[in-house]
Amino acid sequence: MNTFELDKTYIANTYARFPVEIVSGQGALCRDADGNEYIDLGTGIGVNIFGYADAQWISAVTAQLNAVQHTSNLYYSAPCARLAEMLCQKTGMKKVFFSNSGAEANECAIKAARKYAADRCGGEYHVIVTLKNSFHGRTLATLAATGQEAFHAHFGPMPEGFAYAEANNIEDLRRVVLSHKTAGIFIEAVQGEGGVLPLTPEFAKAAEELARERDLLLMCDEVQIGNGRSGAFYGYMNLGITPDVVTTAKGLGGGLPIGATLLGARAAEVFSPGLNGSTFGGNPVAAAGAINIVGRIDEMLLAGVREKSKYLFDALENAPGVQNMTGMGLMIGIKPQREAGEVIEKCRAGGVLVIKAKDKLRLLPPLNIEKGLLEQAVHVMKGALK
Ligand SMILES: *Cc1c(COP(=O)(O)O)cnc(C)c1O
Repeated sequence: MNTFELDKTYIANTYARFPVEIVSGQGALCRDADGNEYIDLGTGIGVNIFGYADAQWISAVTAQLNAVQHTSNLYYSAPCARLAEMLCQKTGMKKVFFSNSGAEANECAIKAARKYAADRCGGEYHVIVTLKNSFHGRTLATLAATGQEAFHAHFGPMPEGFAYAEANNIEDLRRVVLSHKTAGIFIEAVQGEGGVLPLTPEFAKAAEELARERDLLLMCDEVQIGNGRSGAFYGYMNLGITPDVVTTAKGLGGGLPIGATLLGARAAEVFSPGLNGSTFGGNPVAAAGAINIVGRIDEMLLAGVREKSKYLFDALENAPGVQNMTGMGLMIGIKPQREAGEVIEKCRAGGVLVIKAKDKLRLLPPLNIEKGLLEQAVHVMKGALK
């Protein structure tokens, strides 16, 4: 059997895959098993932020692989400790819990908010307010946090203690937070899976003020928009707020699984030994790769992200077949006049990999993609959109 047949036979039927088997890549380019070359504007859902086969990242990872591949959290480990220091220096956060995915990072955030509220007000203050149309992951608690009914179907009962407010509706947020025994507010600076919809700075500011006023933890899910993609180190930095908890994963590891929950001053001391854990969390190989990635997200890279973002908006916003464009930095949604799946298929036939978010094309290119490749990709997308 070939890979497609093996997959159809033996892999659980949870993914609708594109008919592409990626076998190699270099930078923003990748090649499939049939020898077709593509410009990859999806980067494995925002993970390969420096593209494929990035030499610096590979050497950081292999050096660690040749030293120690895993220690467990029963012992100290330098890559994990150094990465935590870097993340705290970049954000002003105080402590980091490492895990292996976005969902796991978000589980930790939910636990932190509940513990923080329980310590102050008692355990009945446990409701996490999230936003309608949000996406926070596939574990049961993060599914419950996800403000989209469609994700809850089939898997009930959902864990209780979640309530949903409308994004960018300050009144509704106040109403939902004040009408529950709320422990925390959990937002995405840009709703990625929800259709690449940024929050307004006014709404983000109101969420921050409400959290301060009620002594709740304000938590930002930066799993997709984080780590340079927004044009700032984290997406919330564009909104003028300072959250108490930041979660991230996807791009942080540059291609290896890692999740991180950053705890600010208010939340830094909520945990004590035994209250959370993860066998693979802070794995030294993943952490060594992440140190390399985080160290390269500097002002020059971020300026490039902002410039390429502007280029894409200028080139595509008024192009024939485009209804509208949304996003922040290099996380961009394009609502086509035609059906999105059809446009994505045409892009693929033209050698450009684009992914979907709701009824939109979603672009998550490598942050260091060359301008020439971006121009080439724009040319193909324009043809597919019109
Ligand atoms: C992808 C994503 C998650 C889930 O991350 P996993 O690593 O798949 O568990 C959570 N939140 C947001 C905003 C995401 O984009």
